[in-house]
Amino acid sequence: MTWEEFEAEIARRGGAKFWWRDDDAAAASPELRRALALSRTCAVPLALAVIPEAAEPALFGLLHERITLLQHGTDHRNRAAPGEKKTEYPAAEPIEAALGRVSDGFRRLKTFAAERLLPVLAPPWNRVRKDLLDSLPAVGIRGVTLYGPRMGALIPQVNTHVDIVAWRRGRRFIGEDEALRLAAKNLSDEPLGWLTHHAVHDEHAWRFLERLFKVQGVHWLSAAEAFSYTGLKNG
Ligand SMILES: [Zn+2]
Repeated sequence: MTWEEFEAEIARRGGAKFWWRDDDAAAASPELRRALALSRTCAVPLALAVIPEAAEPALFGLLHERITLLQHGTDHRNRAAPGEKKTEYPAAEPIEAALGRVSDGFRRLKTFAAERLLPVLAPPWNRVRKDLLDSLPAVGIRGVTLYGPRMGALIPQVNTHVDIVAWRRGRRFIGEDEALRLAAKNLSDEPLGWLTHHAVHDEHAWRFLERLFKVQGVHWLSAAEAFSYTGLKNG
């Protein structure tokens, strides 16, 4: 699919709502700075999913008014049992331990950037136990964001739908055609989520984003706006 075809599809639908989530923020690296600068120059809100225990204090000094922080797990350590898919929250872990860890991470992010933080968990590898999801409000987490179709749960959920990195093909950009086709397939009345990982982007991925942020007929939502469609209230 070309940019022209993509824009025509959006026009045919009378416009689209997009939101942007970038994962694995930890170091105040040149790549992170590039993502933040892109958000500023293109005036596109960015939901930055930060790993609480890995976050360098300097990261919080780089944020600007279009950046909202989400909690990306707590330590992003894979605790999966043999045969289980990668997850920070394995089935065998006592729920109190998982919940305690989420709470510790949430507290650390609040200490550094309470005013930019939305109480939303972005679980590493987009995987979380259903019982943990249902327990999150007990520690102050009010929403969750995953990848793909929504998981049945009571907690407000705003997902991402287009991951621009081909993880099993050398972590390259998936390509313009594939990205646009995936996006077009997922266009609906709900916000469409773009998932990026600044640390692994090649130049093609960056250039794609620069072009994406200029697409006509799109309203780019902040994370708070995207979650407002689900009824999540701040506080
Ligand atoms: Zn991650």
